Amino acid sequence: MNSKILPFIFTCLFLGLFTHGIAQIQNDEVYEYPNLNAQDYRYNIRIPDIGGYKTLKCDFHVHTVFSDGKVWPDQRVKEAWNEGLDVIAITDHIEVRPNKEILISDHNKSYEIAKAQGDAIGMVVIKGAEITRQKPLGHLNALFIQDANKLDLPDPLEAIDEALKQGGFILWNHPGWPDDKSTVYPIHEELIAKKKIHGVELFNGWEAYPKVIDWCKEYNLAPIANSDIHYTSANLYRGKLARPMTLVFAAEYSEEGVKEALFAGRTLALYNHTLSGAEELLKSLIEASISTRVINEKNGTIEIINNSDISYEVKCGGYMYARPLYPQHVLRVKIDKGSDVEFLNCLYGKDKNVTLKLW
Ligand code: ZN
Repeated sequence: MNSKILPFIFTCLFLGLFTHGIAQIQNDEVYEYPNLNAQDYRYNIRIPDIGGYKTLKCDFHVHTVFSDGKVWPDQRVKEAWNEGLDVIAITDHIEVRPNKEILISDHNKSYEIAKAQGDAIGMVVIKGAEITRQKPLGHLNALFIQDANKLDLPDPLEAIDEALKQGGFILWNHPGWPDDKSTVYPIHEELIAKKKIHGVELFNGWEAYPKVIDWCKEYNLAPIANSDIHYTSANLYRGKLARPMTLVFAAEYSEEGVKEALFAGRTLALYNHTLSGAEELLKSLIEASISTRVINEKNGTIEIINNSDISYEVKCGGYMYARPLYPQHVLRVKIDKGSDVEFLNCLYGKDKNVTLKLW
């Protein structure tokens, strides 16, 4: 054995014991409270897989200090993991960069830092950028791009073309912001007709745009719910499933899997325990989330069992009001066999909710 190797091994062992010992110390001078340290825990959000696809919980609109966010990129990955998400996209503004004097002027840097963290904890991180212009065009996220620096162009339509050349998915952000009007302008009609917009935010931050559900059907766009997060998640959203997310039904948990599902439009927007998107996907998800047990065939007493973490609003039988079917709860109701049960929080159009027969 090489004479230098043994001392090296002993040094490693010593350092290993030493650092391990530091972490475990418990004596009269230091008391540790590991129960207060939540960084290695995450919400286990139970939303079932459907149609042979994995249901992935995603946020495709995330900012860091490299644009006008307040958080370092690797922390974005950690907090999303804590909250039970499976995928995030880093989408710093191309045009809005208040910290560019003190941070490196490279539009790819925030993704690179976040991606390294994603790799370390087994989480998919997607490279994106936000093309940020005034209405009528508004803001658009380019996802799955290769080089964000090439999107730094004076003409936003050229930036979109560059993103498309790189294989990008173009997401139309917050169509109802900042003027509280959700409008499809001629520029959007043109881009959609040329297949240059593929998805649209139905929900952003804390606000929904109800007309967008109908646009998704009319223009064949994927419905998306994002946080557009600028501050820490912990001071914006409280508790399990509070942060908005897009459910993506993917053949596999990988960047390629997410990309294929997005271009195929297999998504639902989930925010405030409201699901929005295509009727068939909503029905599949409800059917996979709940089961029923018939208690009394004669008087129609049944139990509806919710095995998911989504709280459903059900209206059935002679009840005038909807009742919450809480996560992991059983609701006993009386409904006639073959009668309709409405799911008021599952929307496939503006003011159109899913109806199912449960027995
Ligand atoms: Zn944004």
